[in-house]
Amino acid sequence: METKKKDIRALTKEQLRDFFVAHGDKAFRGNQVYEWLWQKSAHSFEGMTNLSKATREMLEANFVINHIRVDQMQRSSDGTIKNAVRLHDGLVVESVLIPTSSRTTACVSSQVGCSLDCRFCATARLKRMRNLNPDEIYDQVVAIDNESRLYFDRPLSNIVFMGMGEPLMNYNNVLKAIEKITSPEGLAMSPKRITVSTSGVPKMIRKMADDGVKFKLAVSLHSAIDEIRTTIMPFNATFTLADLREALQYWYDKTKSRITYEYVVWKGINDTQKDVDALVRFCRFAPSKVNLIEYNPIDDGEFLQAPDSAIDRYVDTLERNGITVTVRRSRGKDIDAACGQLANKQ
Ligand code: SF4
Repeated sequence: METKKKDIRALTKEQLRDFFVAHGDKAFRGNQVYEWLWQKSAHSFEGMTNLSKATREMLEANFVINHIRVDQMQRSSDGTIKNAVRLHDGLVVESVLIPTSSRTTACVSSQVGCSLDCRFCATARLKRMRNLNPDEIYDQVVAIDNESRLYFDRPLSNIVFMGMGEPLMNYNNVLKAIEKITSPEGLAMSPKRITVSTSGVPKMIRKMADDGVKFKLAVSLHSAIDEIRTTIMPFNATFTLADLREALQYWYDKTKSRITYEYVVWKGINDTQKDVDALVRFCRFAPSKVNLIEYNPIDDGEFLQAPDSAIDRYVDTLERNGITVTVRRSRGKDIDAACGQLANKQ
């Protein structure tokens, strides 16, 4: 009977060292293999040229390297790149490279589909099929780093967990991936350049604060009025704004790290002065930044971007109340790579 080979990247460095010792070799061989797997992103044992043929064959007999494959790469007229990423079991997720004059940001997925049901989001139409493993998240980042070097002549500078899925519903794997991304044995990126964007899962926000994470937190808020938020993000009925706010207060007290709110203003949904005032009240308890994001309609026009006058009202009121506000133009619209548009259309 054929035994299923284990994915070698599920092993820690210690476990790899132990494996070699148990097979009569030196522990440092584990370090060499670890470096191949993570720093050099090796896709085969054969390419590990500083190992003997016998060692490579022994690894081949015991393990597989499950790596992702960029099946399709689309380039937008504004330079944005969208990757359709095929996983080892055939499922597909999407990740996006967003270039500006000074930085390259990777927007990566954390789940195949999503278990939440935000009504404005294309990913919500795909039911959650599974969580991504740490190496699958890491590999998306490596692929975008390579593309950034190739097409923009510079390394990747920032990462946002804002692709498919709710990262805090796959917390352990997201954390492990970030450990690898920030480790000198991985990509050695600063955690300050990584933002985890959540729709707001209070229990997990508290856990992040307790775990002393060093990356930044963003919350997709979209409304600071419960009735409205529940209409557009139905899970708000369970994780109410009061719970969310308490968790964010806890986060701020522990981390002293500013909170970013992602916020889309939709026509006829959250575009009145009452909505703006509620947002100001919600933000007041801690230093905050509000990103007003341009929306990309995904189908029948139920959700439409509010006119500029509504955005101006938000900007004026927030600024008058000392809250930092930015207006973010959406990128990659022509290839369905913009916020809320990732839905494996191919
Ligand atoms: S907006 Fe995020 S959390 Fe909501 S359904 Fe889409 S992917 Fe999931």
